[in-house]
Amino acid sequence: MTHSVTDQLLHANKRYAAGFSDPGMDARPVRKVAVVACMDARIDLHDALGLALGDCHTIRNAGGVVTDDVIRSLTISQRLLGTEAVVLIHHTGCGLLGLSEDFRHDLELEVGQRPSWAVESFADLDQDVRQSMARVRTSPFLPHTDDVRGFVFDVTTGLLREVDPAGTSSR
Ligand SMILES: [Zn+2]
Repeated sequence: MTHSVTDQLLHANKRYAAGFSDPGMDARPVRKVAVVACMDARIDLHDALGLALGDCHTIRNAGGVVTDDVIRSLTISQRLLGTEAVVLIHHTGCGLLGLSEDFRHDLELEVGQRPSWAVESFADLDQDVRQSMARVRTSPFLPHTDDVRGFVFDVTTGLLREVDPAGTSSR
C-alpha cells in the first residue's frame, strides 16, 4: 500500500488531534507581531524566534518579499487583529538569489502565457531586505510602521543578522 505525502500528513494530524485540547485562544496574536519570511523549509520560525502558538502571525512566500498580497495580509493583521510590529526575514542560500526576471520570460515561452506576478528575484540579500522594509514603511494601508525591522537568517548557524535600513553595503 502506498501513501502519498498528504496521506502521511493526515495520519500525523489524527495523532495531533488526539492529544490536542482547545487552548481557548483569541485570534489576536498575543505578542502583537507579524513575521514575514521566506517559505524555505530550513527555517523553523517558531523555534528560531522563541515563538509559541498564538504569539504571532506568520506570512511566508518565496523569498519573504513584501508583495501586494503580503501588504493585504499585514493590513488585516494590523487593522483587524491588533499586531503592531513587523519582522522581515530573508536568508542565506535563498532560491531567489541569482534568479532573474528571465524566469518569467522562460515561463511565457514554455506555457504561452506571461505571469501577472513579478518573480521578485534578487542578487543582494541586504538590499532586498531594505526594499521590503521600505515597502512596509511606506504603505498607506498600515497604521503601524514605526517598528519594522529586517534580518537575514543564516541557515548554517541559525543566527539572525539585522540589516541596517540606511546601509548600502552588501554581503
Ligand atoms: Zn528563500
